[in-house]
Amino acid sequence: MDTCDPSVIQALSRRDFLRICGTTAALLGVGQTAVPRIAEALEKAVARRPSVVWLNFASDTGCTEALIKANYPNVAQLILETLSLDYNETIMAAAGVQSEEVLQGALKRGDYILIIEGAIPTRKGYGMIARREMLDIGKEFAAKAKAVIAVGSCATWGGVPAGDPNPARLKGVREALGVECINLDLCPVNEGILVATLVDLLLTDRIPALDGFGRPKIFYGQTIHDQCERRAHFEAGRFVERFGGNEEELGYCLYKVGCKGPMAYANCSKFRYNDRVSWCIGAGAPCIGCSEHGWVDKFAGFYERLPGVKIPGIEGVEAGADKIGLVAGAATAVGIVTHAIGTTVSGRFKEKPPPEEAEKAPE
Ligand code: SF4
Ligand code: SF4
Repeated sequence: MDTCDPSVIQALSRRDFLRICGTTAALLGVGQTAVPRIAEALEKAVARRPSVVWLNFASDTGCTEALIKANYPNVAQLILETLSLDYNETIMAAAGVQSEEVLQGALKRGDYILIIEGAIPTRKGYGMIARREMLDIGKEFAAKAKAVIAVGSCATWGGVPAGDPNPARLKGVREALGVECINLDLCPVNEGILVATLVDLLLTDRIPALDGFGRPKIFYGQTIHDQCERRAHFEAGRFVERFGGNEEELGYCLYKVGCKGPMAYANCSKFRYNDRVSWCIGAGAPCIGCSEHGWVDKFAGFYERLPGVKIPGIEGVEAGADKIGLVAGAATAVGIVTHAIGTTVSGRFKEKPPPEEAEKAPE
């Protein structure tokens, strides 16, 4: 897939382009005053043509699908054309020998941003592309990358393919390849988070501050529960008791029908899915906690109530939902310290010094 010149930004339409910059500014928490700076950085990026290589391993390609279906703003176009996406075998026009040449060319030049979608089988013979182990391909490309981004649960920790019993011993990028990477959890990845992460890399030339699971703290620093539009119902003890009942129509809290929002760290209510139209809880489905490592087995029984959460005003149980969030947050903070010792992201992008408050557990 060949790339573009600065006219692409005009082709994207100035309004859409600025909308992407505005959304990115909101997600990065830098305020709308940063929009001109983001726009300028992206325009400069076109001239530099930062190379992006997207490798697919064991997954259903749902993250690529999520990316190319987003039209408002057209983030796919931004990544495909504004940034130089050299290789993505699912959507590139080239095939066979031609696509392999493109891939090898990118490898030879090096210094690309490597995006990996899909889990990596660590057992020999369980995941091959063109007679090569996915594991070996991943190692080869990660070694020459400027930064590595794992998109979606499969790439961050193994995801659905790594659910018990996991005969192929599928793992996420960090564990399988032994490299540091930015983990963009969620199933599928939220395209807004991906674009904001790429823009942040371009703006600062540094990786963002990460939590213990390698997730940018700016997007994964608070629980779904803390940002949920149904939270007032939770506090007031108004719950959906079963699907199909009146409470469902009234938009009550979904905790009793399995919502894992108190244990899941992500900002889904903010950016939403499907062109920002809606998100799981907004559409009436309990959160299944897909932002968390191990969610497939850990949260199995997706419609079963999460144990140990105090229901306000009704039961005096073990721990409140906020406390549960704090426990998970404290574990994250321990991970942050470990992470700070070992992180270099392939040694090229430096990690941003974590802000003071980053070491604290979310409140
Ligand atoms: S339990 Fe789920 S639906 Fe209820 S307030 Fe928390 S996140 Fe929202
Ligand atoms: S709301 Fe929950 S289940 Fe839905 S995408 Fe976000 S973390 Fe995943």
